[in-house]
Amino acid sequence: MSNSRDGQPVGRARLLYVEDEPDIAEIAVEVLSDDFVVDHAADGEAGLRMVLARRYDVIVVDRRLPGMSGIELIRAIRTARLATPVLMLTALGAVDDRVSGLDAGADDYLVKPFDFAELRARLRALIRGRGVGDRREIGDWLFTPVAQALYSPAGERIPLTSAETELLELLTSSPEHVFSREEILDSVFPGGAAATVDAYVHYVRRKSTPEIIDTVRARGYRTGTPR
Ligand code: CA
Repeated sequence: MSNSRDGQPVGRARLLYVEDEPDIAEIAVEVLSDDFVVDHAADGEAGLRMVLARRYDVIVVDRRLPGMSGIELIRAIRTARLATPVLMLTALGAVDDRVSGLDAGADDYLVKPFDFAELRARLRALIRGRGVGDRREIGDWLFTPVAQALYSPAGERIPLTSAETELLELLTSSPEHVFSREEILDSVFPGGAAATVDAYVHYVRRKSTPEIIDTVRARGYRTGTPR
């Protein structure tokens, strides 16, 4: 079963919402239609057919679906070499689900029950970074630049600011390389002072773990190997 809403203003982002529970799906389609052209699929097989048939700007996948699971659907989307950003919905406390969702290729997740303002903010962030579909390992942690987030080995989501995200994007672009403060300033904080670099390294460490970034004495910083 699907529910297509065509005839919306040109340029509005197209969203596919894969959710089997009719009450939740109905509300979600109604609320999200303010911002997006929303298609709805009631199971993973229908969702996959729709993803392969037309281009979406962002996809929301419920983890618990009858038949093909949300994680199987996400894996199939990535196997098809589609880089469309995917946000997975998971149940409260299902930490393993979140980690396996990210491993399967989701860019972000949100725990049910969620606030629609939060969902819209996350979807806008995913669309801004459209096509990146990028997950980077930092030791046992996961960094998703598109979602501006770090995930701990236990699956805890740590939101990052834009500047913190850019700093980690630079460091993870060449994990073996030691970046000098000057290099980091040029790329991330043009016109800033060296102390700005140290401050942002401190912010990222404080909200995640000190081992996320290594200090190389007298040379600069590189990505660490946190466990
Ligand atoms: Ca469900």
